[in-house]
Amino acid sequence: MDKKTAAVILAGGRGKRLGTDTPKQYLDIGGHPLVYYSLATFSKSFVDEIVLVCGRGDEEYCSSEIVAKYGFDKVRQVVCGGAERYHSVYNGLKALGDSSCDIVYIHDGARPFISEDVIRRTYDAAVEDHAAVAAIPANDTVKLSDEEGFVAKTLRRDSVWLMQTPQVFYYNEIYAAYHKLIESEEETVRKGILVTDDAMVLELFSNRRVKLVSGDRRNIKITTPEDLMLAEHIMKVEGC
Ligand code: C5P
Repeated sequence: MDKKTAAVILAGGRGKRLGTDTPKQYLDIGGHPLVYYSLATFSKSFVDEIVLVCGRGDEEYCSSEIVAKYGFDKVRQVVCGGAERYHSVYNGLKALGDSSCDIVYIHDGARPFISEDVIRRTYDAAVEDHAAVAAIPANDTVKLSDEEGFVAKTLRRDSVWLMQTPQVFYYNEIYAAYHKLIESEEETVRKGILVTDDAMVLELFSNRRVKLVSGDRRNIKITTPEDLMLAEHIMKVEGC
C-alpha cells in the first residue's frame, strides 16, 4: 500500500435496543466478544494502525481483555468515546492526529462480518474518489413518514442505498469536517439534524462527493436480539 492507512473501530455505544446489561460490543458471541471480530479482520488486513474507541471506564477492560489477550498489535491506542456516535468518531480521529495517516477507515465494532474484500474495495474507491462508503441497494420500498405516522413520500427504490461501514476517507478531509461539526454542534442539534454516519458529516461540512461502494449483505450491524440470533447462526454455519 502506498498510502499510510488507519482504522477507527467504534465500540463506545451502550446498545440499549439489544436489551442486555453488557454493552453489545462486549457480548460473547461464538466464544469471543463481538468487537473481537472486526478487530481481527482489520488486524489481518493491510491497514497499518488501529484506534479502538470504547465506552467511558472500559479502557482497562478493552486494553487487557481484548487488545492484549488476542495480541492485536496494530491497536496503538484505546480511547474513550462520547455520548453520541459522532463524538466517539471525533475522539478516534483526534487520537490519530500524530500518526500522519493518509487514509482512515471508520468502522462500527458492532459489525462482525466485515470482509477483507470490502476493506479492499472501499480503499480503492477512497483513493480514487477521496470518500467511499460500503452500502447495499435497498430490497424493500423505503417511504418517508409525516409526524403523525402517515406516509408522506415514497422514494425511488432503485436509487435507495442502505449505509454500512466501513466508511473511508482522506484523513485530513474527514477530520476537518468533524472538527466543523463539533464546533457548530449546538446549531446542528438546534436545526434537528441527527448525524448518524460519517458520510453525512462530509455532506454537511464539505463539498466532497461520497462514492457508494458495494458492501456485503452479511455485514450487518448487531442492533436487536434478532440480529444477534442471525449473527450466531452465520458464525455456526460459516465456522467463524
Ligand atoms: O448505536 P449504533 O448501533 O448506531 O452504533 C454503531 C457503532 O457505533 C457501534 O459499534 C457502537 O459501539 C458505536 N458507538 C460509539 N459511541 C456512541 C454510540 C455508538 O462508539 N456514543
